[in-house]
Amino acid sequence: MSLAVTDDRTPLRENFLYGRIADDLRTGKYGGRVVTRFPPEPNGYLHIGHARNLYLNYRLAVDHGGLFHLRFDDTNPAREEVEYVEAIQRDAAWLGVEWGEHLYFASDYFDAMYRYAERLIENGKAYVDSLDLETLRAYRGSFTEPGTNSPYRERSVEENLDLFRRMRAGEFEDGAHVLRAKIDMAARNMVMRDPLLYRIKHAHHHRSGDAWCIYPMYDYAHCIEDAMEGVTHSICTLEFDNNRELYDWVLRETGAGPQDHPTLAAAFANAPAEHPPEQTEVARLNLAHTVMSKRKLRELVEEGLVAGWDDPRMPTLSGLRRRGVRPEAIRQFCEMAGVSKTNSLVDIGKLEFCIRDDLNPIAPRAQVVLDPLKVTITSWTDGTEWTDAPLFPEESGRSETRRLPFSGVLYIERADFAEVPPKKWKRLAPGVAARLRYGYVIRCDEVIHDDAGKVIELRCSHEPGSRGGETAWGPKGTLHWVAADHAVPVEVRLYDRLFEDEVPDAVEGDWRSRINDASLVVVPQALAEPHLASVAEGARFQFERTGYFVVDPDTTPERPVFNRIVTLRDSWAKQATPATEVVKGKKPAESTHAAPPARSPERDAARAADASLASAFARYLALGLSEADADVLSGDAELVAWADAALEAGNTAEVAKWLTNDVLRLRKDTALDALRFSPTELAELAGLVHEDAITATAAREVFEAMAAGEGSPAAIVDARGLRKLGDANALEALIDGVLEANVDAVSRYRDGKTQLLGFFVGQVMKASGGSADAAAVRPLLIAKLG
Ligand code: ATP
Ligand code: MG
Repeated sequence: MSLAVTDDRTPLRENFLYGRIADDLRTGKYGGRVVTRFPPEPNGYLHIGHARNLYLNYRLAVDHGGLFHLRFDDTNPAREEVEYVEAIQRDAAWLGVEWGEHLYFASDYFDAMYRYAERLIENGKAYVDSLDLETLRAYRGSFTEPGTNSPYRERSVEENLDLFRRMRAGEFEDGAHVLRAKIDMAARNMVMRDPLLYRIKHAHHHRSGDAWCIYPMYDYAHCIEDAMEGVTHSICTLEFDNNRELYDWVLRETGAGPQDHPTLAAAFANAPAEHPPEQTEVARLNLAHTVMSKRKLRELVEEGLVAGWDDPRMPTLSGLRRRGVRPEAIRQFCEMAGVSKTNSLVDIGKLEFCIRDDLNPIAPRAQVVLDPLKVTITSWTDGTEWTDAPLFPEESGRSETRRLPFSGVLYIERADFAEVPPKKWKRLAPGVAARLRYGYVIRCDEVIHDDAGKVIELRCSHEPGSRGGETAWGPKGTLHWVAADHAVPVEVRLYDRLFEDEVPDAVEGDWRSRINDASLVVVPQALAEPHLASVAEGARFQFERTGYFVVDPDTTPERPVFNRIVTLRDSWAKQATPATEVVKGKKPAESTHAAPPARSPERDAARAADASLASAFARYLALGLSEADADVLSGDAELVAWADAALEAGNTAEVAKWLTNDVLRLRKDTALDALRFSPTELAELAGLVHEDAITATAAREVFEAMAAGEGSPAAIVDARGLRKLGDANALEALIDGVLEANVDAVSRYRDGKTQLLGFFVGQVMKASGGSADAAAVRPLLIAKLG
């Protein structure tokens, strides 16, 4: 029953969860099954942090031919709403995650949860407590003080059952009683001090209506939901670390499992009992310059500080969608952000990088002037001249064009002219020439001011014959522009990060007061070239030299409206204040700052100038290479080509290691095309290491032999007898030989001289010619000698 997903995306980096699942598949812990889930509480919209966990769980299932469940964790009646249930499904589907028929609601398991609770009571593992909440809390003790037993702890099973049934029947007010697990009030882990399992809450539930007036607590419900669905790997965030012990306790004591699932039970009817799900914690994804808690996002919406959950400045998936970001970019970001065990703050620049990388090849180009300055070409006499300009950059391989008019009155960007130019000014200035993209080279002859001294017009001459060709005027810069007669007025909304502070909720004072005033700047009338006159909602463009834009749903036939998705370059990178200053020494909750980027400025410049290098960099990050490794490998086209060819076959981490250490070392003296081995041969070497066919030491020897021109790695391994004897049969034969040859030592070992083990290991290694794996030899020897 695996999901039919056709998928050519880069696999999420090979994180530790992949290793764990591989182990479980090998040992058959779950009979070869992999089932993951994403369990949102329907009390807000999905944000980019959820997206990482959602996509991670989905990939873990898909990459192992498993199943992915979307389950609403709707056990808390007061806060949940149907709007959120719908929005979450819409956004998850948009991201490209598929759950097929596996859509579940925890509230559908209320009956089973209740039965499990009665079972706990019957087994003396749970009791009804009637202390008020405040006393309950005081009785929990502290990290240094054990808790205190409740006077109700020793109620009889009969009394507990009776009270619990009456709780359910609605006989009591909210707070009158609770059901608690009976574990240990002195437990070191405070979560284990008789945790609450059920509380009374007379509230309407969006699905179960008024059927229940007692509701299970998260710690009790969540693990049962996982177990009932046959989930194998339950991924949650780090703050649930301490709860894992309770997770396991509840599953052990209730025996919860798929046999009690309302619809899945049949599928498990004859299956052997399996290991219960296991919880694994991973770090939250925190993004700089925004808030991520659902409560805070809800406050932004409810207090009208943003235009809604889908405000293009929100870190929600619906906000990012309206902003114009494609799911492809978010998936790439999720892959790049990866998974870790320590909380960190992800630079928003990484997300923006993925967005640019995604849009660059697919966004048609257009010229739009945001802040127009009139330019009259005094030497122009030819009316309107139309030309075909490419819609896509050359490297995209697409040849579509648009018609572009040039005439005697144009508009350029006000910022592209300087009356008194600073040093190194490359744009227009009095007496200075500049090239108009797809147009002519012009020179500014005269500057016209209004009464207040503001520049209102430039009078320029053009260099005939310079369109797309030779020029004698030596312009340094190229400007975007539009022809006045054919300009289309459009509204442009310039969005920027919502908070100036890197960690807005760590700043002193009210975090809401830290909203970036410039996070939305509306340009009511920008001027666009004619092909933007009729555009479809959702269409994306690159406004040359300005950024990527999308057609907003507010567009009307009379007035197109464009949202800025992202600028062309990271304009914040340089001006950003170091986080430590911003947070004034206060450590942000749950976040440590990521190490500063380990990239070289030269290679950054090379990538800025060459889109194919930039996309190689992105590709390497997506493959899971570190930023530093992706950087050193994407500085020039020759190396990129070589690295690509080597990385193609997989074993990315291993190949990357050889590339960044050894190939780059050789390259100091030898050009890549003069190396004695090919990228494919390097990939073969990595493959041998990956398959465990050779030891690390042998691999090094093979590499040096390859560099010396001795041939393919496989040939070298065979010629030098380096293949590792990890294979148990071959090893056993060797060990048997050694033991037979040393019967005296064997009997001394068996008499207690166990320090002889080292001697035996050495003998086996010698007998194998150094090719046995010592780590495999040891346990086999112990078994045979024991
Ligand atoms: P809150 O914002 O109130 O803390 P929540 O984000 O935990 O709530 P849930 O609906 O419980 O809300 O989250 C669903 C899943 O998403 C959970 O498995 C949770 O661990 C995961 N998750 C939530 N926030 C992040 C994040 N920032 N990064 C990664 N995963 C997250
Ligand atoms: Mg949560």
